[in-house]
This record gives sequence, structure tokens and C-alpha cells, in this order.
Amino acid sequence: MAKLRSVKGMNDILPADIGRWHRLEAAFRHRAERYGYAEVRTPVLEPTELFVRGIGEVTDIVEKEMYTFEDKGGKMLTLRPEGTASCVRAWLQHSVGGSEPVTKWYYVGPMYRRERPAKGRYRQFFQAGCEVYGDPGPYVDAELVDMVVGFLRELGVEDVEVLVNSLGSGDTRARYRDALVAHLAPMRGRLSEDSRRRLETNPLRVLDSKAPEDQEAAASAPTILDYLDDADRAHFEGFQETLRALGTPFRVEPRLVRGLDYYTRTLFEVVGRGGDLGAQSTLLGGGRYDKMIGDLGGPSTPAIGFAMGIERILLCMGEGPAERALDVFVIAEPGVRGAATVLARDLRDAGLRAEADLRGNSLKSQFRRADKSGAPVALVLGQREIEAGTVQLKVLAEGTQESVARDGIVPAVRAALG
Ligand code: AMP
Repeated sequence: MAKLRSVKGMNDILPADIGRWHRLEAAFRHRAERYGYAEVRTPVLEPTELFVRGIGEVTDIVEKEMYTFEDKGGKMLTLRPEGTASCVRAWLQHSVGGSEPVTKWYYVGPMYRRERPAKGRYRQFFQAGCEVYGDPGPYVDAELVDMVVGFLRELGVEDVEVLVNSLGSGDTRARYRDALVAHLAPMRGRLSEDSRRRLETNPLRVLDSKAPEDQEAAASAPTILDYLDDADRAHFEGFQETLRALGTPFRVEPRLVRGLDYYTRTLFEVVGRGGDLGAQSTLLGGGRYDKMIGDLGGPSTPAIGFAMGIERILLCMGEGPAERALDVFVIAEPGVRGAATVLARDLRDAGLRAEADLRGNSLKSQFRRADKSGAPVALVLGQREIEAGTVQLKVLAEGTQESVARDGIVPAVRAALG
């Protein structure tokens, strides 16, 4: 039989790596909660229609990357490719807007896109993100960007650039679209095949094409900032002013459009410069999507959010201090393994990380395991100790050993750990 392997582009995260994941996730949760965000967990499977309507039909995700299948009941389902549409669906389904004027949610979880796997690009990847409903900005927009930059800094990811843009609202985009098409149409023959098609369906996407021929055409194109109306311009300026007041450096990038259809006004991306990122250097992206909730059949509600790729942040995060996995290792003569099981449980109940070798191996082999385990303290239990109501406490690095009363074992271990 062929060897069983994980699905291409979907990775195991083994215990040896999980400490960094925990560190990142804990830092994210703590920061988001300090800013008033509460966690939401939505299903990984949603009706396909949610993403087609929420993300937009003419996007890479919906056109080519979704894992979609028909279930046994004939329903079309899709493994979520991103979190925003699901959050909006949940917010609407539970009428959250009826009970609170502003909702701030965060999520952490796996997303699925059938992209070509590469370093920093997978078919199952994890995103952490935030969404805000009911605040039209621009202050909350700047707060969000500043929050995430602070989060990256806390993890030691400081070599980043924040790019911002505004896509305007309503008719801005339509007017810019016409101007862009007028600029690109004469160069049609020089564009990539994808961009020639997008010229008809979604011309803004030509601007973020990676193909050199498209980039050349985009370089001379008019920018959307020239098409903002007064209200959009004031919003964009308010966003920038607040970022400056918060002390978060940024660069206006008028060609930033991003892959998803639903954005309006504020748009931002954080790009990593250092670490091990290679070509996949966009750490996170987000923006305002003031029209999406209305388009999905809800009450017109302003919204903004972002999502970051956890694997990409891990690629530029340092190792961090190695965490001690164990405090104490229990070693027992084969005849007293029952008592050792109870001793280990009591240590754990007291909050210590304890492991015991309960297989009945020789003391020598148990000591070897204790040494390798990284636990600073070993407790040794034999028939003699059981009869005397004691335990031998050994500080492994120093080789010192003392007899401690079984009743006083927890404080003795704590004292030995320092
Ligand atoms: P998006 O939802 O496309 O705006 O992506 C937001 C962030 O998610 C990106 O900046 C990446 O960090 C991450 N991301 C998106 N697609 C992938 C992928 N296929 N593999 C790994 N990370 C991804």
C-alpha cells in the first residue's frame, strides 16, 4: 500500500513547533481583548453561496481556489477560504447588531484555498483576524492598524512596512474603473491573459497582478486617489492623521487594491521585510467593507476588518526563549508504580507539570529519561520510601538528593525549582 500522507499543502504542526504557535496566539488574544474584541468561532464549512456573494464572483478565491463539494443531501458546501464572510453571516444570523451599536470580534482558525503550495503559501493555513461592525471610522481604522503593528512588535516582528490606500465609496470606484479601463484598453494586447479577461470583469485587479507586463501597464495608470470625493478624501485623511498621532509609520500606496472584491474606503497591508518569508511577504491585509452587510441582505452597516497569516508571521518571528515542558519527573521501583501514579497526580493537581515512567523499566533507564526530559527535579519512590512516608528529591543538574516527607512534597519541589 502506498504510504499515507497529508493532503498536499496541508501541514501537521508537531509538538516540537507548537510552543511558538501558542506564544503567537496568546499574544494575539491578549492584545485583541485589551482593545475590546471578543472571540467568535464559526464553522469551517459554510454554504458555497456565502462566499460567492460575500467575496465576489470574479476573484481568484471564488473562481479557482475554493474547496467546494456537494454533500449527501445535495447542498453545495465550501471549506471557508477566509473569515470575514462567515463572521458577517454569524453577526446577521444572531441579530447581534440589534443588541449592540458596535461589535468587535476576533477569530483564529484554519482557512482553505487551493493555491499552488510554496513557502508561506499553503492549502490549509491559519488566520487570526478582527472585525468591527457599526463604526464608520476613520479612527477605528487607524486603531486597528496600530493594534496589529503593536502585536507584531511584541513578537519581535519589527521589520515591516504598513501600506495604506483608499478605494473610495459608491461612485468613486465606478468613475475610477472607467478611467482605468480607458487607460488600459489601448494596451490590451500587451496585458497577460488573466488581465485581459479582468479588464472586462474586474479591472482594478489588473493593478495587483504579479505579471511584469501588467505591472508596466499599471505603473502609468491613473490612481484612485485622484477620484475620491470630498467625503472619501476627508475619511482617508482622518485615517492617516490618526495613524500619525499614534506614531505608526505607513506609506500611501495608491495601487494597493487587494484580491477581495468587497473593500471600500480604507485598505491596508503589512508587508514583512525580514525573516524567512521569500516571495510571500504580505503578513496581513484588511480594509473597510461598508457595503457587504447590506449586499448580503442585512441592514446597511459600516464594517472593517483584517486577517493575518499565522504561518507567515511565524516565518519572521524569532525562536523566543525555550519553554520548560516539565517541572518534575517521577521515578519508581516497579513494585510501587501505583503509589507513583498517585504522587504524579497530586503534583499535577497542585499545578506542577509532572511526568512519570510507569512501564516498570529499570531505575537506570528511568533516570536516563528524567535527564532527557528537561525536568529540573526528579522524585524517586521505592518500597523503603513508601514505608517511611518519604520521597527522595533529586535536583538533576546538581546531583543533590534529599529525603522529603511525602506530605510536604509540593512545597519542597517548588523550593527546588526556585
Ligand atoms: P487575504 O485573506 O487573502 O487578505 O490574506 C490575508 C493574509 O492571510 C495574507 O496576508 C497571508 O498572510 C495569509 N494567507 C492568505 N493566503 C494564504 C495561503 N494560501 N497560505 C498561507 N497564508 C495565506
